[in-house]
Amino acid sequence: MTEKVRVRFAPSPTGFLHIGGARTALFNWLYARHFNGAFILRIEDTDRSRSTDEYIEEITKGMKWLGLDWDEGPFRQTGRFDLYKSYVDKLLKEDRAYYCYCSPAELEARRKEAAARGGALAYDGRCRDLSSPVGGPPPAVRFKMPRKGRTIVNDLIKGEVVFENERLDDLIILRSDGTPTYNLTVVVDDVDMKITHVIRGDDHLNNTPKQIQIYNAFGYELPEFAHLPMILGPDKARLSKRHGATSVMAYYEMGYLPDALINYLVRLGWSYGDQEIFSRKELIKYFTFENVGKAAAVFNPEKLLWLNSQYIINSSSENLAELVLPFLEKESIISAGQPQIDMAWLSKAIDTLKERAKTLIELAASLRYYIAEAVEYDEKARTKFLNEKNLPYLVDLKDGLASIPDFSVSGLEKLFTSIIERHGIKLGSLAQPVRVALTGGTQSPGIFEVINIIGREKTLRRLEKAIKTITSRT
Ligand code: GLU
Repeated sequence: MTEKVRVRFAPSPTGFLHIGGARTALFNWLYARHFNGAFILRIEDTDRSRSTDEYIEEITKGMKWLGLDWDEGPFRQTGRFDLYKSYVDKLLKEDRAYYCYCSPAELEARRKEAAARGGALAYDGRCRDLSSPVGGPPPAVRFKMPRKGRTIVNDLIKGEVVFENERLDDLIILRSDGTPTYNLTVVVDDVDMKITHVIRGDDHLNNTPKQIQIYNAFGYELPEFAHLPMILGPDKARLSKRHGATSVMAYYEMGYLPDALINYLVRLGWSYGDQEIFSRKELIKYFTFENVGKAAAVFNPEKLLWLNSQYIINSSSENLAELVLPFLEKESIISAGQPQIDMAWLSKAIDTLKERAKTLIELAASLRYYIAEAVEYDEKARTKFLNEKNLPYLVDLKDGLASIPDFSVSGLEKLFTSIIERHGIKLGSLAQPVRVALTGGTQSPGIFEVINIIGREKTLRRLEKAIKTITSRT
């Protein structure tokens, strides 16, 4: 390939960045990065009634969170109306477009009539050959579609797709209010921005022959097209809200790592042998359209969750400590105004927990007993373990911990061994009541690690509280 690859992501800001849009953005981004090309962000906001600045903000926020950085843009189509208008004028001048005076009400009536006769629903071409302008309200402009022949889309993923031209409508390219429509603006922009590859969802495949005809009318060379198969829910219907969260930022809120979501999204339609987990570097290196499948991909939230847990396990605890902070605040485990948390200590605590947490929310929740001043007992665990029988072990441990000089994991292990030997009990008989005293429940990382992280002062306070809990009940 001699020409520099230039691709674009062209969202309409009529909603949040959703899973399907993010996958399209990702495939464009990977393609650009693979070929050292340019990735352009273009906001297709010509539908002013449905586009909002908030959605633009949300879309760019989602892309930034995913690390899909763009090289040019964001361009907004609403800032380019003069350009589109000049292209429409050119088509009018060359008789490749015409004014249409039919009002929406007339069109609707004729469509109904045609439907009743079992005829086509496309525009009937009434104004196509008018020789002089008709008075009345401002007209729309329609593109003169060829009536005969075929348009062939040579798609990098779908292969050759053939469309009969007689089925293509004389579509409106400029509405009577002067606003241009999608099929025109997309061609003008892709030409103007020198896009080499149009990569988008296959819900646009039916638009492609119309766009090809517009390219032809201008005499422009076609870009390559790659239409990505849709993403479906587990019931094989197109992925939608009723299948669960579809907005990218909802996955941020649920405690997913951006790299895990990227890894998941890329596998929706693309594969590389049996490999499941890819670094970004690998993705950039391996990504081409040869390995994009033709079949629709099914969104599987369990697999995404599994990938997230893998990314948590394989992330450095220092990185996780940074990522978990907003969730600690959100779960009120630390307050925003709280004196700075010791990040080195937090990383050490995360070392002991990351194997068990599938999301950052779970990680934050499991940090609660490390960070909070006091623990709350799980009622069942309290009854079972904080009782008279275990009292002497807890008392011995408290005395021992108050005086041992070595608070390391091995130092703690020595102390535990001496206590269980003295009482003739197994490690579990001491560790479980201690675990309840320190964490409130019966499941936690290794007890020596827990003590080591909670530290002497807090451990002693919690043991005292457990002892008091037992003695005040007897
Ligand atoms: N604005 C269109 C959409 O959001 C994308 C069009 C395109 O990629 O050509 O579906």
